[in-house]
Amino acid sequence: MTSVVQPPETAARTDLPVVNHWIGGKRVAGTSGRRGPVYNPATGAHAREVDFASVEEVDAAVAAAKAAFPAWRATSLSRRTEIMFRIRNLVDQHRTEIAAHLTAEHGKVHTDAMGEVARGVENLEFATGIAHLLKGSFSEQVSGGIDVYQIRQPLGVAAGITPFNFPAMVPMWMFANAIACGNTFILKPSEKDPSASLYVAELLAEAGLPDGVFNVINGDRVAVDRILEHPDIASVSFVGSTPVARHIYETGTRNGKRVQALGGAKNHMVVLPDADIDMAADAAVSAAYGSAGERCMAISVVVAVGDVADPLIAAIKERLPKITVGPGEEPGSEMGPLITREHRDKVASYLDSGPAQGAELLVDGREHPLYADGGGFFLGVSLLDKVRPDMDCYQNEIFGPVMEVVRADSYTDAVGLINDNPYANGTAIFTRDGGAARQFQFDINVGMVGINVPIPVPVAYYSFGGWKSSLFGDLHMYGPEGIQFYTRSKVVTARWPDPGTSKVDLGFPRTR
Ligand code: NAD
Repeated sequence: MTSVVQPPETAARTDLPVVNHWIGGKRVAGTSGRRGPVYNPATGAHAREVDFASVEEVDAAVAAAKAAFPAWRATSLSRRTEIMFRIRNLVDQHRTEIAAHLTAEHGKVHTDAMGEVARGVENLEFATGIAHLLKGSFSEQVSGGIDVYQIRQPLGVAAGITPFNFPAMVPMWMFANAIACGNTFILKPSEKDPSASLYVAELLAEAGLPDGVFNVINGDRVAVDRILEHPDIASVSFVGSTPVARHIYETGTRNGKRVQALGGAKNHMVVLPDADIDMAADAAVSAAYGSAGERCMAISVVVAVGDVADPLIAAIKERLPKITVGPGEEPGSEMGPLITREHRDKVASYLDSGPAQGAELLVDGREHPLYADGGGFFLGVSLLDKVRPDMDCYQNEIFGPVMEVVRADSYTDAVGLINDNPYANGTAIFTRDGGAARQFQFDINVGMVGINVPIPVPVAYYSFGGWKSSLFGDLHMYGPEGIQFYTRSKVVTARWPDPGTSKVDLGFPRTR
């Protein structure tokens, strides 16, 4: 099957709606002359175009954000809190419309899109507590008449660069805390599904956020690289694939910016022999195929320990024919299409390379009728057994509806497999043995761990982040570490002596 995806410069169409930028509180049409296609993944139709920013257009957005910063950081905490509540309420009222944008451009099914918005709203709710979150600390009388206190201040212009797979939630992971802390923000969403960001920008304006505090710049590498080198951008938050995350981290930090760059994943779910088979099979199927496997916390590898493999695989296989694959807006659909035809074909290629290298293809998603009909970017659910770590399908992040089963002889082998993997975003263990679960939590070198929970995405008042090649930087995203990321600490030492009590003293303080 040949790809219909064309390079952006050759795909421009004048008869389609165009997704513009959002700068200084209004939609701004692109002037670079460059655009990219946005598809409806369920039909394959080229539905609209998106502007690709030039260096000058990024500079205009940064100038708007920089100009808005002094007044926004001086806005009282109670006023900022009020605006965060209004943003939260407007997003809450418009959940369905946001979800519709997600389904139209990402392809995820409506229920899943509503779940994405719900998790985004949690981050807005966390940020409404900004007055409490920004409290500093105070030490009275550290020396005679001297007090020391610490305050947290915003950085200035913060930027966020986001992936295609969570077009509403991941921007909220970033901008909710960033603006609540008093920063202004530039969002560069994925060019594959940009409409939700523009819709949310309108809601932020309606909520009373001053012009220039939140800006959206659409585009590709040109926009990203300008963000990374722009002297007026203080910080960059990134979520996406590992090679790009590494580039963002290295380039951003080289240019003196604070950077948190979250990368790709290969999440393992260990099933011990004592696990409840039905519970483990339900969890594995839900976590592997939800959102067509295009979640950074999706389970892609099930590690079956000892003799659990055969009954577990039988239970998984039994569940697969019951999954309804179809367009996201159709009520019964449980799994939608993949993001592009190119990506779908890349995912499907592992169904050839896996068996060629010795894996067993138990369920082939290419047999689903929607794969063959050539319209949308569909692939049915697929199951590969007897996968080994040296195979291409194991070594790469597939990011599609393919579950791989690796058979491990022991708990120790399972842990060794996971700890040897370069990715370390999420992992899970399924067992009835509390001691084994506790040992796993101790042993495993992964940032987020689930115990009988397959997708352990932390709630908004904790923070999200993997280890190793899944995160470059020091601080995890959102929650308390998000507040830390978007502020810097200032420590003040103060005294108010009476006039006439001072004297010259060139030494260091010697007495307590
Ligand atoms: P991607 O890395 O291709 O793109 C992410 C962003 O970077 C987009 O805005 C894109 O325009 C930009 N970009 C792409 N190539 C670039 C380049 N060469 N130079 C500069 N900018 C570039 O990722 P994606 O395909 O949109 O998203 C899927 C990936 O994101 C998967 O690897 C997934 O695991 C990862 N992801 C990770 C997390 C996490 O929390 N760790 C969450 C969601 C997604």
